[in-house]
Amino acid sequence: MQTLKIVCSQCCGVNTIQITNPQELISCSQCKADLDEPFAVEVSDETCKTHILENDIPVLVDFFSSTCGPCMAMYEDYEDAALAFGLSVRFLKINADIHQEIAKEYGVGALPTIIAFKEGEEVNRVSGQLSRVELTLWAEGLI
Ligand SMILES: [Zn+2]
Repeated sequence: MQTLKIVCSQCCGVNTIQITNPQELISCSQCKADLDEPFAVEVSDETCKTHILENDIPVLVDFFSSTCGPCMAMYEDYEDAALAFGLSVRFLKINADIHQEIAKEYGVGALPTIIAFKEGEEVNRVSGQLSRVELTLWAEGLI
């Protein structure tokens, strides 16, 4: 039986789940939140790292600044793109003005920068604004 490690978007707890029925709602063993959280999750330095390293599903991280025009222009498209993925790709967003550690660790200069991770390793990155369609195609390519 296939098992997956999924990091809860609410409490950041690491869950090991068994995929028996894809229609079944799966909730966090710690906080009972729905693990099939389709929204882009705002993370901090610490929770971002847990998501990158512990999730068995691909992770996208949007490094943004609330004072950056292109970042804010992409914000809603990123949220919209996330809605389609649920448990197949985790969409994260991190305010790089407040949480500078992760941005520094991954050498993020220009904002927005979006980095794709699989099993903790960076597989791809894009700097600059992407459309909802571009984000969706990119995320689909990670599955
Ligand atoms: Zn939880």
